[in-house]
Amino acid sequence: MTKKIAVLPGDGIGPEIVAEAVKVLEALRDRFGLKVEMEHGHIGGAGYDAAGHPLPDATLALAKAADAVLLGAVGGPKWEALPIAVRPEKGLLGIRKGLELFANLRPAQVYPQLASASTLKPEVVAGLDIMIVRELTGGIYFGQPRGIRNNAQGEREGFNTLVYSENEIRRIAKAAFDIAMKRNRKVCSIDKANVLECTELWREIVTDVATGYPEVELSHMYVDNAAMQLVRNPKQFDVMLTDNMFGDILSDEASMLTGSIGMLPSASLDANGKGMYEPIHGSAPDIAGQGIANPIATILSVSMMLRYTLNEAALADRVDAAVSKVLDQGLRTVDIWTEGCKKVGTAEMGAAIVAALD
Ligand code: NAD
Repeated sequence: MTKKIAVLPGDGIGPEIVAEAVKVLEALRDRFGLKVEMEHGHIGGAGYDAAGHPLPDATLALAKAADAVLLGAVGGPKWEALPIAVRPEKGLLGIRKGLELFANLRPAQVYPQLASASTLKPEVVAGLDIMIVRELTGGIYFGQPRGIRNNAQGEREGFNTLVYSENEIRRIAKAAFDIAMKRNRKVCSIDKANVLECTELWREIVTDVATGYPEVELSHMYVDNAAMQLVRNPKQFDVMLTDNMFGDILSDEASMLTGSIGMLPSASLDANGKGMYEPIHGSAPDIAGQGIANPIATILSVSMMLRYTLNEAALADRVDAAVSKVLDQGLRTVDIWTEGCKKVGTAEMGAAIVAALD
């Protein structure tokens, strides 16, 4: 059956990098039998300009009707003076909520060709391939009660609530184990079960979910140790399963191990495997319109879409291999360029990856 993809380029470099990712999808459709159709929509500042709202009704309807969403990035100086309710970022939060995307997947992968771009020693990060699976719609960022109040001593105090239901833990744990089955079959669940009851329950439920995945090796680690291990010996990890706040912090730490923001894709999934796929970087207004942005993070987002929503693992492998091949050829956009390599623009990089799909 033909799958529908909603394509939302957004703002800044969004349209430039998404155009290259679309070329990859078109090549897979025309040359490798991928059955997809694409429809474009506006989001972010582009949504505001086109329809007066960062998430126009038509865009949300398009995304809801699609099997997957490919997003560029939103935001930029042009829209910074707008009221908060119609700022570009509201479009992003709105679509995540509207599609009930509770599982955030952030891979941190270091291509051997780019190992020197990391601030860590190349031997520590070369070949690194971690997937952080972060719970995205619960935990302390959403828990009630919350606020700032006066305590009995008449002093102000701030308070938040860390709360997870069994069901919320179970569904994110399942997502992590399902992903591990498509990778190296190791899950490390991150918690602070020695001091937080909520994460004691987290550990109990994750352990229970693991019984349904006998082929996956489960370990548990306290979050403080995990933060340390990520810089000490990051290659010990395959899938890291985290709650919302721990994942927020650890995924940024892990992405910086790679040293190149223009290389990192992400996915956010709902309970049925439908997903929104986007690079982790923003709209890079400083280089927008110059044709020099790195399209690889967006192209690798297509690879994740193939793997996690379209169930086309062989085509995902093909895209990954094409990216690796082009790096082997010494082609580099300005953000990853080093002496001795060939500097290319966005479209040239995209075209080289499309050519390398064969
Ligand atoms: P940014 O990620 O856009 O840019 C940070 C730096 O990285 C810039 O120097 C930029 O040129 C560079 N960079 C980013 N992507 C690149 C690429 N593909 N190729 C080459 N260089 C790249 O972050 P920022 O500057 O903090 O934010 C700019 C705008 O993006 C803001 O409006 C912000 O709100 C928005 N933003 C959007 C998202 C999103 O859409 N998911 C995420 C983060 C920031």
